[in-house]
Formats: sequence, C-alpha cells, structure tokens
Amino acid sequence: MDVNPLESEAGFAGLGLRAELLRALTNLGYEEPTPIQQEAIPPLVAGHDLVGQAATGTGKTAAFALPVLQSLASGKRSEGPAALVLVPTRELAEQVSQAVHRYGRDLGVRVLPVYGGQPIGRQLQALQRGVDVVVGTPGRVLDHIERETLNLSDVRTVVLDEADEMLDMGFAEDIEAILAETPTERQTVLFSATMPPRIDSIARRHLREPVRITMGRKAVEPGEIPLVRQSAYIVARPYKQAALGRILDVEAPSAAIVFCRTREEVDQVTENLNGRGYRAEALHGGMSQDQRDRVMGRLRGGSTELLVATDVAARGLDVEQLTHVINFNVPVAPEAYVHRIGRVGRAGREGSAITLAEPREQRMLKAIERLTGQRITLEKLPTVTDLRARRLELTRTALQASLETDDLERFRVVLDSLTDEFDVENVALAAIKLLHEAAGGDVEDEEIPAPRERPERNERNERNDRGPAQRGRPSNDGVARLFFGIGRRAGLRPQDLVGAIAGESGLNARDIGAIQITDRFSLVEVPEPAAEMVIAAMQRSTIRGRRPTVRRERFVR
Ligand code: AMP
Repeated sequence: MDVNPLESEAGFAGLGLRAELLRALTNLGYEEPTPIQQEAIPPLVAGHDLVGQAATGTGKTAAFALPVLQSLASGKRSEGPAALVLVPTRELAEQVSQAVHRYGRDLGVRVLPVYGGQPIGRQLQALQRGVDVVVGTPGRVLDHIERETLNLSDVRTVVLDEADEMLDMGFAEDIEAILAETPTERQTVLFSATMPPRIDSIARRHLREPVRITMGRKAVEPGEIPLVRQSAYIVARPYKQAALGRILDVEAPSAAIVFCRTREEVDQVTENLNGRGYRAEALHGGMSQDQRDRVMGRLRGGSTELLVATDVAARGLDVEQLTHVINFNVPVAPEAYVHRIGRVGRAGREGSAITLAEPREQRMLKAIERLTGQRITLEKLPTVTDLRARRLELTRTALQASLETDDLERFRVVLDSLTDEFDVENVALAAIKLLHEAAGGDVEDEEIPAPRERPERNERNERNDRGPAQRGRPSNDGVARLFFGIGRRAGLRPQDLVGAIAGESGLNARDIGAIQITDRFSLVEVPEPAAEMVIAAMQRSTIRGRRPTVRRERFVR
C-alpha cells in the first residue's frame, strides 16, 4: 500500500501543525519536512527559544515561519504585530514575507516587508491598517520605531534570520536597540549559517535556554560516497529551467533523474523538458504506486530518458541504467545530497552528479563538500556558441563514422547527378547541413547572464577545512576522449562500455569519465596517460559481440 508521507508520523502532521498550515503545504507540493524543519518545528511550537545553524536552502524559513503562524492562529489578535523577523537584505525581506504569506494564506495572516529603498509612505499605510508579522531589515525597522510608526510591545516572537550576515553588515547595534523595544518574555529564534563567537554572545544575552540545532555536522565515511563526477552551476532563479536544458544538451545523458523540491516544481520542470524535446516523466509522492510503476517501466524500457522526481518519490528506487543525477536545487541537507548521488556510480558504473545552485546557496555546496570530503567543481554554463560547437562536433563525428564504416556506393547516383550541376564541395556542405538539422540543428536559446558575484566570507577558511580532494576523476586537462564505433542501435549501454574497458584494459572503472552514447557511436573519457593502453586493449576485444573501431576522437578546431 502507498503511504502518503503527509499523513504519516514522519510528515508535517507529526510536527503538531494546524490543519490550515498542513493544507497550505500540501498545496505548495511540499512532501515532507526538511531535517531542520523536523528538528526545529516541535520545540518552536512548544514556545522554546532556539539557535539554529542552517544556511539558505535548508528550508529554514518554513522552520521558523510555520511555528510563528501556528502561534498567531492560536493566540488572540493583538493591536501591533505579534511577530518580527529581522533579515539582512531587501531581497530576503521580500522572500521571507512571501513565504509567510503563502504558508499563512488560509489563516488570513497579514504580513508586511519593510526595507530601505522602498517609499516609506506605503509601509506607513499598511502599518496603520494593522499587520501580524513584520519582516524587515534592521535599519528600516529602527527607523519606524523612532518615528513611532511601529510599536513592538505586542511582539511574542522575534526571529533573527541570517544573523551572521546581519552582523557583517554592521547591524549589531540596531539589533540590540530593536530587541530592547520588545517584551522580555518573548520567544527568540536565531538562525545563522556560521556560529562565530559574536553570534554566540548575542544568543547568550538575548535567548533563554535555547534549543540548539546544527545541520550537516556528521562526516561521512569515505566508502559511503560513490565516486562520481560532481559539478555545480551557479544560476539565478529565473534562468534555471533554461540552464537545465542546456546542461542536458551538452551532457546528453542516456538515463537521468532530475531531483526537485516540490511536486509543483516536478510538474513545471517535466513540462519544460518535454517542450525541449526530451522524453521526461514526472514522479512524485502524489502518484499512486501503479502510476509510479508504469513510469519506472518506461524508463527501464528506454522510452523515457529523464525522470523528474521529488526525494520522497525516488526513495528506494533502483534503476540500473542511470548515468546522471541532476539536482535542480541544492538538496535541503548535505545528507540528502549523498543519498541522491548514491543512485549513480554504483559498482564502478560511470556517473555524474550535477547541481544547480542559486547564488545564495553556495554555502550549502561548501557544507556538502565538508561532509563528503570531496570536491564539487564549479562549472560555467555552456554558452550558445559552446552548444553550437558541440553540436557541430557531433555532426562531424557522425559523418566520419559513416565514412569509415558505411557502404556509401548506393548513394553515388545522387552524387553523380548533382555534380553535373554543382561543385562537390557544395554538395557535401548541403549534405552536412541536412544531417545537422536532422540531428536537432542549431540552438535558438538566448544567452543566460552570469549571476552577480557575491563576496563569500570565510571562503578561504572553508577551503582549508575541506577534506581530501575527490579521488578517481582526472582533471579536464588530463583527459582523452575516445571514439567507439558502436552506439545505441547496437543496444549499447554505459555499463557495457565501463565493463569492457575495465575488464579488458585493467583501468579502474572509477577512472572512466563521462560517456556519451549516440545512435551509432560513443565517446568515452579516460585519463590521458591510459588512452593508448585502453585503445590497444579494446582493439583486441569485443563489445556486445562486435569489434568496433576504437580511436581517439579527432577534433577539427
Ligand atoms: P530556505 O532555506 O528557507 O530559503 O528554503 C529553500 C527552498 O526550499 C524554498 O524555495 C522553499 O520553498 C523550499 N522548501 C522549504 N521547505 C520545503 C519542504 N519541506 N519541501 C520542499 N520544499 C521546501
């Protein structure tokens, strides 16, 4: 029988939240609480103070917003705001405010973001009408207090979100002044990505016996982490769908799973990928077991190449042929990342784990690196020019394979009849154009702008903290790409190539890099020093009963 996680004890219902909030979460497509939510919500609902070490991307906003909303709904409405959330930036004020609004929709909660740079008049009107939750930057909140347009004497909960960042931005005194305006018996919650002594000192002075929560501290045993190629792209939110499509175009996975956070996102991403010509299928916890089995059957049978899934839906799923795990977002906890990437690269199979991270989520990547002791390489998104070049390269390689292996005599009549009128070179160019177009043609995409650079504090220290560099995968400079004249039409799968290369040449399976399989040929990355040895070994052996051409891929640049 199918267990709906939302109804199980492990779901949000087990955290003691009201029906209106559970309904809002279901509507948003949240399938289960993130680890920080699991740990923080019960003590916060019980009224405790709390210090949480958690970065953006862990689900920390809902971890404090849901208990705040719960308490608003159960307490009596006061004159002034009952909750105050302090955040470092305007962007975050808007984001948190939208989140509170979405979660509290069925409770009729009034929330107002206040930040510098926005006309104060509009904020004044809203404050006069009455609000329940104020989400603001310290400077503007203090401004309102001084103008006596914001009265904090009814505040029951204060949240300091991204406290380390607020201190770095010089808001320490403002925060002290604001806290002094709130009742001493309030509940105080502090979230911070890092816990320097200054944060600890604020917690000691302003919080009462707080519950402490730290995420992602447990290191993972090296053996638990599969040795797959791990990379990440930093992409601003509006460009994520386009970036995903482009990465898939370049990676050309034969079977991949794309992880999303919510059901809504699963549906959007699936639709987008299908629009781009991929055969993608959604898999989420809202589907019956029967529906899920059918989707899995289509993946195994090869009529689907991409699964788009939530963590809940993908749990326990074992697909032999997966070559890529793609995280559409940074997973909510480093442990979830390890779990996800464990789906590829099993038993020495070739695999890639690719993560799309928003600029603010880079911290999470660092936390994952610390947990795994492995490096996640930051890659630059392929540009339109890169994509075009890559497609031309594939067209060229396909032509070369045909020239080397196909019997072309049958087409001579066409060539002869054309060369009466046209130059041979032009005939060849037209044929190449037609082949290129038949294989998908040129890219019509717009350029994706690079995200704004954001100075990352402590980056140097974090780098020093990092464990051993990832083993197994050679850096790009030391990689040779080999051409194998056998492809999908011969029923070739990545594991056939890995098995044959490892078995025949003695190369360690984990040293085999990216594999790209097209209809008629395949490209395999191996460490440069081993290239000749692999070619020699493969020329003596068979793959799926054939003895394909094996050589270095030739580049024309
Ligand atoms: P935050 O760390 O609060 O910035 O949240 C990161 C993202 O995760 C936001 O886009 C949230 O909407 C989303 N999110 C938060 N909690 C959950 C959950 N339990 N399931 C799915 N998505 C979530």
